[in-house]
Amino acid sequence: MATDIFDTRESQVRSYCMNWPAVFERAEGPYQWSEDGTKYLDFFSGAGALNYGHNHPELRELIVEYVANAGVTHSMDMKTPAKRRFLEVFEKLILEPRNLDYKVMFPGPTGTNTVEAALKLARKVTGRQHILSFTNAFHGMTLGSLSVTGNSMKRRGAGIPLTNSSKIPYDDYFGGDVPDFIWLEKVLEDAGSGVDKPAAVIVETVQGEGGLNAARMEWLKELSNLLKRHKILLIVDDVQAGCGRTGTFFSFEEAGIYPDIVCVSKSISGYGLAMALTLFKPELDVWEPGEHNGTFRGNNLAFVTAARALELFWSDDSFQKELAGKIEALHTGMEKITGHVKGSYVKGRGFLAGISFPAPDTAGKVAAEAYKRNMLVETSGPQDEVIKLMPPLNIPDEDLQKGLQILEEAVLAATGQMGEPSRLRAPH
Ligand SMILES: *Cc1c(COP(=O)(O)O)cnc(C)c1O
Repeated sequence: MATDIFDTRESQVRSYCMNWPAVFERAEGPYQWSEDGTKYLDFFSGAGALNYGHNHPELRELIVEYVANAGVTHSMDMKTPAKRRFLEVFEKLILEPRNLDYKVMFPGPTGTNTVEAALKLARKVTGRQHILSFTNAFHGMTLGSLSVTGNSMKRRGAGIPLTNSSKIPYDDYFGGDVPDFIWLEKVLEDAGSGVDKPAAVIVETVQGEGGLNAARMEWLKELSNLLKRHKILLIVDDVQAGCGRTGTFFSFEEAGIYPDIVCVSKSISGYGLAMALTLFKPELDVWEPGEHNGTFRGNNLAFVTAARALELFWSDDSFQKELAGKIEALHTGMEKITGHVKGSYVKGRGFLAGISFPAPDTAGKVAAEAYKRNMLVETSGPQDEVIKLMPPLNIPDEDLQKGLQILEEAVLAATGQMGEPSRLRAPH
């Protein structure tokens, strides 16, 4: 089937499709079908935008019904029943049971939009400009988000100096050689340090793009306490790690912290629709009306599916309990696979996890071998040295095992411990 138009007309800025040339036509749960009918097992999940799999049947039905009834699709920030329902359900099922009192802001519909809103608000509230972020952080592609991102290739793409932010070492950056926060604590207390007091620190609890480094809960708690002492705001970027990815709705729940600002996007719609939230403590709500806005804040189809997804998965703790079992199975499977490659080890937390290989080109080869076996997995890390497994959170156990089996074969093939697959086969 024709693919020329993608190569001749579409910009070379595209990336995932360079490794995955299939033209994907249909999708359901953890599977996608290309237009030639090949079935692919999807352990990529739209980089975390599809936590409940593709096209959840009940959510799909709601969309069809909403559209058929001529429900308002686009509403800027006007009031609609769909938005009211989302806010009510979010308050009742997510905020109240966790004792979190956050104002909800709808910035533009993407992850980088909520990060920009968070940075802007932190600066406005504190009157300070500087933001601290962490080594290997990823927060998005617009200038503000890029300024707090680590990756040098992506930073270069800005084309201008990225200022008003500094990088500080993430948990275990020095492999335990240096006590955590020794530098930060010292420079914040030393009037001669020359480090401007920051407005905020922005952190991912697991660095999704930066190599699946997972912060320890004690580290997050210590960070939160340190910032409180110095009246610096804590922003948690939960765009990728949130919505259940690490095993709880917010990735910081286990740490028992209460961040000042939380960025949510990717899976919040439950259906892969564009939607983002910026959550902040009520006393930080100092915006002037319209001071920050955007055309696509009122994606009502996303409100409709988001509300129902919260009800389907987060009404009680049954989904979370089931997920805990799947997380254990994934990690057990990954540990087993590391036995095949000396020096490889499991990284990450929950269903935001993967395997780091000592040779930087191994993970890319594993992803290519997995694709030959009709499975989608991506790489992560500054040198793409980590293979990253992000199955949907509700993946059936047998599909999870199938994925682990394909991955094991892919690792063996990529490291020369096994021949080419004898035939391309669908993971049926
Ligand atoms: C994906 C991601 C973003 C950016 O989201 P976009 O929707 O791509 O703009 C920001 N922060 C984190 C942690 C992410 O994973």
